[in-house]
Amino acid sequence: MTNVLLVVFDSLRTDVVFGDRADTPNMSRWADEGASFTECIATCTSTTPSFASLITGCYPPAHGVIAMRGYRMAEMPNVATVFADAGYHTRAEVTGPLVEQTGIFSGFHTFNHRRIVESHAPDWPEYIAGLLRSLPRPWFVLLHVWETHRPYAAPPDFKPHRGAKGYIGAVEAVDGWIRPVVEEARKNSIVVLTGDHGERFAPNLLSDRLAALAREARSRVRFLHRFPALWRRLGEAAIGHGFTLDEAVVRVPLIIMGPDIRPVRVTTQVRHVDLLPTLCDLLDIPSPETQGLSLRPELSERAIPRPAYMRAVGLLGDTPVTGVRDGGFKLIRSAGRDRLFRLPDETTDVSTLEPEALDRLVRYLEQIESQTRGASGMTAREEQQVAAHLESLGYI
Ligand SMILES: [Zn+2]
Repeated sequence: MTNVLLVVFDSLRTDVVFGDRADTPNMSRWADEGASFTECIATCTSTTPSFASLITGCYPPAHGVIAMRGYRMAEMPNVATVFADAGYHTRAEVTGPLVEQTGIFSGFHTFNHRRIVESHAPDWPEYIAGLLRSLPRPWFVLLHVWETHRPYAAPPDFKPHRGAKGYIGAVEAVDGWIRPVVEEARKNSIVVLTGDHGERFAPNLLSDRLAALAREARSRVRFLHRFPALWRRLGEAAIGHGFTLDEAVVRVPLIIMGPDIRPVRVTTQVRHVDLLPTLCDLLDIPSPETQGLSLRPELSERAIPRPAYMRAVGLLGDTPVTGVRDGGFKLIRSAGRDRLFRLPDETTDVSTLEPEALDRLVRYLEQIESQTRGASGMTAREEQQVAAHLESLGYI
């Protein structure tokens, strides 16, 4: 059976892989040699809920991780349990906020949380390549690469920079640094490369200074959080992602390479929630019920409509920004107000000009938000199924 390596680079923007913003020869080559998706939409713009969606194929209302802290993922089928049931050894190598208490990795056979490093650890890729050679086969390995996240860790011989320069430098260094891992895995595996969300970095020195001031204000002026719109603006400037659903933070690259995957470039919209059903489909493993759809049609150059639900949770999830991206439009619901944008314009509200599009996207948003898990940990549909079963047995 074929192994699977899923590499998630923290804060990896689409344009550093598919555009000419950064010099990433390895990622560019992998994109050319595999199936590459230039319009992949991350579910959340913060690490923890984004990973929960990636591994369950479900949106936050269904998996329950609706903030960076305080919410544990519901016990439900996910990539680890599905592959374990199919006879795979499953391992997660993660870092940053992805701690055990999130419940996201409880289904993995083995789990390792790496300490956040100040610089690229020179021997980490060799350690991972060795791990891939030694694990029982077939294996499913999830890798979380933190070096592309702020403060943009630099390799030991690289002068660190902040802002755009720091980000691009970190991405370019990671491109070569991760190569031994990807090349080792490609010998006998499906390899998936993506980002958990994008990044909004300071484009110049002035914005970099403003970002530093925003960090200062957020930590010192506590009452600012009473003004949600201002709090979000400062948060996005200070942290770089997590507080908005701007294109810079929802668009991520997605590359899938494997023995039977021929090179194809897909420019239509796909979503992170499609990954689990896709892997199951490619490997002929029964897929659990998810809110995504297999990407097999796109691998054969057929596109199907895939509206994307998105959620920015900030840190505590108490004032989320939610939205839907579909058919060239983007709906943003924030502080009880709906706005509609015709992409790539993200400033002109066209909701009164496009009532049909507004209605369609609002309906999708509300449909996804109604599919929540109750206190039982079951979805409303599962609860109904259990109720029907009990009724048929004469219990209720
Ligand atoms: Zn992240």
